[in-house]
This record gives sequence, structure tokens and C-alpha cells, in this order.
Amino acid sequence: MKKIIPFVSDCDEELISLWLYYLQNQMSEYEIVLFKNLSESQILSADVAIVANPKPSQISQMKNLKWVQSLWAGVEKLLQDIPDASFKIVRMVDPTLADTMAQSVLAWTLYLHKNMPLYKLQQNHKIWKQHIEVLPEEKNIAVLGLGNLGLSSVLKLKENGFNVSGWGRSKKEIQGVTTYHGDAGLVQILKGADIVICLLPLTPETNNLLDKQKLDLLAPDTALINFARAKIINYKYLLEKIENSELSHAVLDVFESEPLENNSALWDDPNITILPHISAPTNMKSASKIALKHISEYYQKDIKPTFVDKDKGY
Ligand code: NAP
Repeated sequence: MKKIIPFVSDCDEELISLWLYYLQNQMSEYEIVLFKNLSESQILSADVAIVANPKPSQISQMKNLKWVQSLWAGVEKLLQDIPDASFKIVRMVDPTLADTMAQSVLAWTLYLHKNMPLYKLQQNHKIWKQHIEVLPEEKNIAVLGLGNLGLSSVLKLKENGFNVSGWGRSKKEIQGVTTYHGDAGLVQILKGADIVICLLPLTPETNNLLDKQKLDLLAPDTALINFARAKIINYKYLLEKIENSELSHAVLDVFESEPLENNSALWDDPNITILPHISAPTNMKSASKIALKHISEYYQKDIKPTFVDKDKGY
């Protein structure tokens, strides 16, 4: 009999069916079973599960869980929903996801660098006006977060000629990239930036990291891209600064409540580009392969995957 791996998810049915298809396709030696189809004894005996927005009430019934494989890179919701979980969490670290994010970072950096929002506005008013374009090496791009997604993005920007700097918690060396860390480093990197790109995890430390004081460090022609989590940046103050021409533009992919409410003022500002959380969707095929690798290494070779550091929150 095949070993059962529970899949615990509160996503919509269509998404769940797709995930079951991809997971089962990769994991023919295991049987992937949706939580609602598990028997009482299967719920109680499961030691590993795959999760994607799991219902806390379901996951808490799995008393023998040792660890869960999240299909998402960000695990702040899981940590927040099940704060006293006895099981460990493995987040999705996928080179394919990092490539996708790096491509999005490059695309939206070029969108800002090439003045696309401005030319679109001009077209709306039939204005024929050329603007001076500086070279990529004259543009200072500051990437906040140098993890799986941040590092690939930094390298992609560098490859495309931009002057890139990066900021993380620990000191890092990346060839051709000026790196910063710590509070003083954040002040330095923000002060010199033309475009700030946020790729940090949401943790108690990064919550409201870009508050009024930090946003005030940015020069008025600075633009901001947030592909991480909304709560890292004070959006209310960001909007105020954009309305007052104290910041040039923001590309926002993530919001406190998604979909973004119809009545949000963020929709209406021409200097804010709203994206529906699409900068780096998890690739079902590559993510399923990674989940399989972790699960089979665990059962067949007793190799534990890398767990999230719950104290750090990522
Ligand atoms: P990661 O590999 O864990 O990297 C996190 C980076 O942030 C690391 O460089 C870490 O520094 C730095 N960091 C964490 N806390 C910090 C702090 N307090 N001060 C300074 N630096 C700090 O994460 P990832 O895989 O790159 O993912 C980042 C986030 O992207 C996820 O958490 C998720 O929220 C978001 N995401 C968004 C999408 C989307 O479609 N919009 C898709 C996937 C992921 P150290 O290197 O020193 O530890």
C-alpha cells in the first residue's frame, strides 16, 4: 500500500484539483489525499503533510504531524494562524520561482526606467513629449531582501546593466553589488535609491519597516516596487507622498486584503500601478517536484529538509 500524504488546503476547488493533479503526477510512489477524504486514523497518524492556506481547524486535528511542506514561499500566514504549532514548517524555495520573480523585477524596473507610466498618461492626453533617459548604470536600484528571490533579482538587474545594491539581515558579499545590512545600512540604501524593490518576508521585524520616517528618506523622484507583503510598507503614507509628488510612482502587487477593495484610493492614482499578486506565482510542476524531493528524502534517507526559523519568522 502506498504511503498517504495529506494535502490540507482551503484554496478554491479548481485550484485544489490542479494541485492534486500536479502533486500526484510527481509523487506516484505516494498517495496524495485531500484532508476531507482522510479517515480519522489517517488524520491522527499523518506525520508529514503538504499545505496551501490550510484551515487551522483541520491542521490542528493532525496530532502526529512532524512537519508540513508549504507550497508558498511566504509562511507568515501559517505562522500567524497556527502560532503554537508543534510541527515544523518547510517553505517553498524554488529556483523556478526565483527566476519568475527576477523576470518580473526586471520587467517592472524597465517599466519605471523607460517612463512607461508617463508615456501612457501623455497618450491619454495626446501629448507628444520626449523625456531624457539616463543609462541603466546611472540608475540606483535598491533591493530589500537578498534571499532566494532577492538574490536572483539582484543578479538579473545587474546582468541588464543597472547599478544595484542590496540589503538584508546579515552581511553578504555579491560580486558587483554594494550590500548593506542592519538599521544604518537601511538608511544608507534608501537615501541613494532611484527605485526601491521590496522582497522581504513579513515578520514581526519587517512589519511596517518602511514607515513614515523611512519613506521620508527617499528622494522625490524615487519609485517603489512591492512584490513582498503589503504590511511591510505604510501604504497610507506612501499614497500621501505620491499625491504630493514626494515620490514618483509605486508598483504594488500585494495588499493587506486581496482582492484590493473597490473603494481603495490606491486604484485611482495614475502614479500607482496595481497588480493582482502576479509577480511570482508558484509553478505547480516545479513546486510539486521540490515537495516530492523533501518527502522522499525524509522517508527514504532520513534527511530532514530546511525548516523555517520560527523565532525569526522566515
Ligand atoms: P528568503 O529566502 O527567506 O529571503 C528573505 C531575505 O530577507 C533574506 O535576505 C533575509 O536576510 C532578509 N530579511 C529577513 N528579515 C530581515 C530583517 N528584519 N532585516 C533585514 N533583512 C531581512 O525569502 P524569499 O524566498 O526570497 O521570499 C521573500 C518574500 O517574497 C516571501 O516571504 C513572500 O512574502 C514574498 N513572495 C511574494 C510573491 C508574489 O507573487 N508577490 C511570490 C513569492 C514570494 P538574511 O539573508 O540575512 O537572512
